[in-house]
Parts: sequence; structure tokens; C-alpha cells
Amino acid sequence: MARREERTAMVTGGAGFVGSHLCERLLDAGTNVVCVDNFATGSTGNVVHLLGREGFRLVEADLTEPLDPGGSFDLVFHLASAASPRDYLRLPVETLEAGSLGTHNALRLAEGHGARFILASTSEVYGDPLEYPQRESYWGNVNPVGPRSVYDEAKRYAESLTMACHRAHGTDVGIARLFNSYGPRLRPGDGRVIPTFIRQALDGEPLTVAGDGLQTRSVCYVDDTVEGLLALARSDLTGPVNIGSEEELSVLALADLVKGLTGSDSPISFIGRPVDDPRFRRPDITLAATRLDWRPRVRVEEGLRRTIAYFLTERGLPPVPDQV
Ligand code: NAD
Ligand code: UDP
Repeated sequence: MARREERTAMVTGGAGFVGSHLCERLLDAGTNVVCVDNFATGSTGNVVHLLGREGFRLVEADLTEPLDPGGSFDLVFHLASAASPRDYLRLPVETLEAGSLGTHNALRLAEGHGARFILASTSEVYGDPLEYPQRESYWGNVNPVGPRSVYDEAKRYAESLTMACHRAHGTDVGIARLFNSYGPRLRPGDGRVIPTFIRQALDGEPLTVAGDGLQTRSVCYVDDTVEGLLALARSDLTGPVNIGSEEELSVLALADLVKGLTGSDSPISFIGRPVDDPRFRRPDITLAATRLDWRPRVRVEEGLRRTIAYFLTERGLPPVPDQV
């Protein structure tokens, strides 16, 4: 077992999908973790296995209110925000507040403790991109008043605020632009494409492909995403830096892959495309590769296998589909 160092990280949104994996990796590396979450879209279930572990503390709090969870911090990872389109369209004002007020409060805490602040930003800051692949220098193509703007603009504001604190106060910051991530602990009902397709395939329901399904996403296994966040935290890079996979797939290809890996004969059902749904998404990860020595390692088939195994286990079934 790793020796526990006297380092402490606060993880806001630590009871969510990415946050729970991050908390676990930090603990494994011997860092104490204070997980702050209001359970808006996360749950104690995601961190229940960490509750008895030495060095782990769960604090239920809404980050849009000033908070002092006690103790001192060397690192603040700010992940608190709805992330699935279904969630942020259901929680529009809360999402803007998490990106604005929540980021203010997380930055203040980091500044008060002299901690390095890592912002989990998103590829959505590029909107429906007109540049391909997307480099960090691209300013994006975002509809500022469309339904998705509650998320996109919240993250753009959060990035701007983070840079303002860095420039005005000398705050030690790093901005990660995460691309679509997937893996165990995604909620079957959170509306994102991978958990939706897996749930539908396992239930024998039609896989709901939006539009013609030719829009693409580059999907990154959660362990790789978390490694990217940790590499940024270890570095002195301010960023922003893209953290994502270069394995770009159309939504239709993703549906076929999930069907194949689950052994499902569910049909495909074409549904309407969401407003402002980005057409392409693929990161240029040169900066992360050169400055952080980071690259994703888990190929999409393997990552999907692990995610499907998680979904099966959650249903009390053996982790390998019997049909395959
Ligand atoms: P998630 O919804 O599973 O987790 C977000 C967590 O934040 C939840 O536990 C939620 O309860 C908590 N939260 C929300 N508002 C809060 C508030 N006001 N106070 C305290 N806690 C609050 O989402 P996720 O997929 O784990 O995403 C985590 C972060 O990573 C988000 O900031 C998201 O924007 C970013 N990100 C994720 C992806 C992805 O594909 N998963 C891609 C890009 C960026
Ligand atoms: N999508 C789909 N069927 C679904 C859910 C999503 O075809 O049931 C599409 C969605 O329109 C988008 C892509 O899959 O083009 C990724 O959507 P997701 O919500 O996972 O993430 P986004 O990248 O849009 O934030």
C-alpha cells in the first residue's frame, strides 16, 4: 500500500462520475481527499467504497455558497457541475451558478490555502467547432443564448475567472479541457450516449441515434481522463490543455460497437438531433503529450468492455454478456 503523504486535495463534485474515480486515484497515491458535493447529479453510492478509507472525508455542501470544510489543502480540483446535457438542461440556472459562483468559491479556497487549482473545463468551450481537430488556441463557436449555453458559457466564464485570478493574484492554476469521458459509474439514465446505448442494448430496446448518427465524438476512458487531471496537477502548466482521446467515432459506429460487445440485436431508432449538437469533436493533444507526457492508453473497445461489465454487475449479472 502507498505511504500516506501529508498532502491533501479537495475534489469538488467528487461524488460524481469523474470525481469519484479521481478521489480513488488520489487516495491510492497516498493523498488525503476532501470530497465536496451537493449530490445534484452525483451520489454517495459513487464513493461509498471510500468512506471507510484512511484520509477520505465526504462533505455535503453546495459550492455556490461560501464554504470552509476545515483543514488545509495543497490541491483543489474543481469538478462540481452538471455535465450530461440531460442534467444541465434540467438544471440550467444551477449549472450557470456552479460554473460562476462555484468557481469563485473554489478559487477563493485555493487562494486561501496557497493550493494549486485545477479546473475541469470541457471541449464544449469549442461549441460546434469550425476547426478540426480542436487545438487549445481555437476560440470556439458557441451560441451564447442557446439551450446548451448554460453549460458552455458557464465553463467559458470559469476559464476566464481562473485566468483572471492567475493574472491578478498570481494563483497557481491549471485548466483541463476534458473531452467526452466514459466508464464505470456512469448513470444508466444520465442521457449521455454511451450509458444510454449500453442500457438500451442490455434491455433489448432500440438504440436511439440522434440525427443521421454521423456526428462524431472522441471518447476517453475515465482512468485516462483522471490520469490527465493528475498529470496537470503535478505540472506547472497553466493551460488550457486538451485531455481527450483521438479515437474519434461517429455515433452510429458507437451504436454498432455497443451492440456487438453486448451481443444485442436491438435495432437502431433514429431520433431528432438536439439543438446546437456539435457535429465533430476531436482534440489535438500535442500539448498534453509534450508538456504532461500524457496520452490515453485504453482503446475504445477495451473501455467499452469494462463499462459494459460494470453495467452487468450493477444488475447482479456476470460481467461478461452470455450472448458473446
Ligand atoms: P457528474 O454529473 O457525474 O458529476 C458532477 C458532480 O458535481 C456531481 O456529483 C454533482 O452532484 C456535483 N455538483 C454539481 N453542482 C454542485 C454544486 N453546486 N455544489 C457541489 N457539488 C455539485 O459529471 P462528470 O461527468 O463526473 O463531470 C465532472 C466534471 O468534469 C464536470 O465539471 C464536467 O463539466 C467535466 N467534464 C466531464 C466530461 C465527461 O465526459 N464526463 C467532459 C468534459 C468535462
Ligand atoms: N446521442 C444519441 N443518442 C442518445 C444520446 C446522445 O445519438 O441517446 C448523441 C448526441 O446527440 C451527441 C452524441 O450522441 O451527438 C454525444 O452526446 P452526449 O450527450 O453523450 O454528449 P455531448 O458530447 O453532446 O455532451
